Amino acid sequence: MGVNDSVMQKVLMMVTPQDEYDHVINLLQQHHKWFQESIPLIASENIPSPAVREALMSDFGNRYAEGWPGERVYAGCRFIDQVEFKCIELMKKLFEAEFVDVRPISGVVANLVVYTAFTEPGDTMMALSIPCGGHITTGKKELGGTAGAVRGLVVEYLPLDYKELNIDVDKAKERIQKLAAEGRPPKLVMFGASVFPFPHPIKELEETIRSVGGIVAYDAAHVAGLIAGKQFQDPLREGADVVSLSTHKTFFGPQHGGVLSWAKYADKTKRATFPGMVSNHHLHAVAGVTIACAEMLEFGQEYASQIVKNAKALAQALYERGFNVLAEHKGFTQSHVILIDITKQGDGGTIEETLEKANIIINRNLLPWDIKEGRHFMHPGGIRLGVSEVTRLGMRESEMCEIAEFIKRVVIEKEPLEKVKTDVAEFRRDYQKVHYCFENATDAYKYIKIR
Ligand SMILES: *Cc1c(COP(=O)(O)O)cnc(C)c1O
Repeated sequence: MGVNDSVMQKVLMMVTPQDEYDHVINLLQQHHKWFQESIPLIASENIPSPAVREALMSDFGNRYAEGWPGERVYAGCRFIDQVEFKCIELMKKLFEAEFVDVRPISGVVANLVVYTAFTEPGDTMMALSIPCGGHITTGKKELGGTAGAVRGLVVEYLPLDYKELNIDVDKAKERIQKLAAEGRPPKLVMFGASVFPFPHPIKELEETIRSVGGIVAYDAAHVAGLIAGKQFQDPLREGADVVSLSTHKTFFGPQHGGVLSWAKYADKTKRATFPGMVSNHHLHAVAGVTIACAEMLEFGQEYASQIVKNAKALAQALYERGFNVLAEHKGFTQSHVILIDITKQGDGGTIEETLEKANIIINRNLLPWDIKEGRHFMHPGGIRLGVSEVTRLGMRESEMCEIAEFIKRVVIEKEPLEKVKTDVAEFRRDYQKVHYCFENATDAYKYIKIR
């Protein structure tokens, strides 16, 4: 051991487990404080109500309940079963679904349930590519995507119309028929995306997909709250056989997943979830989702309609300040998300980092044409902004203009970041409560100590 090593060793030994424990708690508390003072614009994130957070801290999170409620493999499920049945009942009502499985623990797991129920390894599936807004769960094997690398599906891409930021219907029909002619018809076509500003053409493509024996699937991870709030398309009515969910993006949280489908697909979907994909299924989160469903039933329409208004308002305000917000000719968006070509101002990675220093939390995003132009995901040409969380904090159109102004001050005027950060914290002071919920005595990001 060198001198330096032995000194190091002594220093390390002076850090006690108690110190480590205190340190972690301190980091958690710092995170909470930071989010109290920041503008959260990550399109996949949201803030749950105090009641949902309470459910997350409940003892449900320490239990097992393998199987279907009422037919569990474990004892001790008396109340857990009642909550899970209620969750299924409320989800059915919200989404007008014949069958609901609330056990998938996340959107990724929900997609794996869909793949397992409806495909075999080696089958062809279609989805949007990642630069075109697709998600890693629908990625090809060579990219390590879930569909390709985990389920062994051969992924072919749905074509995107770059200007419309939507699936190109005619080209998609051609591609489906070509694959069928080659003897590898898509067994499953996955609509939905992570950059999802406009409703996808399910109705327009359903017949072609069915004519080659394909299943119509819809990934509602991003837009579940907008569908529940009746402000986006209704995939089950438009022809989807199965819909996968995350419950925490536009939906009211907590982080969890779910699958919606028809009664005729219930058995195989259930089997894919358990024993296929979960053992414990995060029962505290199921309880949280159940509470979130009740909140959605009561406040969902008002919330979702404000989200769409806010997204349009933020897009317009940024556009007027010189940002190249895409799809201007279509009103920028019909959902919670907007996509900005940031190449005039820099690259997405650097801008993400700079904005973070001013307490504005956004994420860099590939533009559909980035790969062809030699950009990649660390330094892409785009940024993606979502307004779900700021909407849930009670912000409206006028606050969207203020947010656009902060972004302009950082990205275009290049004001000192510390100055903007101070003003952001000041702006945030009035938005510390979760709205669209039954009770909000506890502040949105309050660190809750129960030790
Ligand atoms: C976020 C996302 C998922 C994964 O959801 P998690 O709940 O984070 O596992 C799946 N599909 C799409 C399109 C997504 O954007």
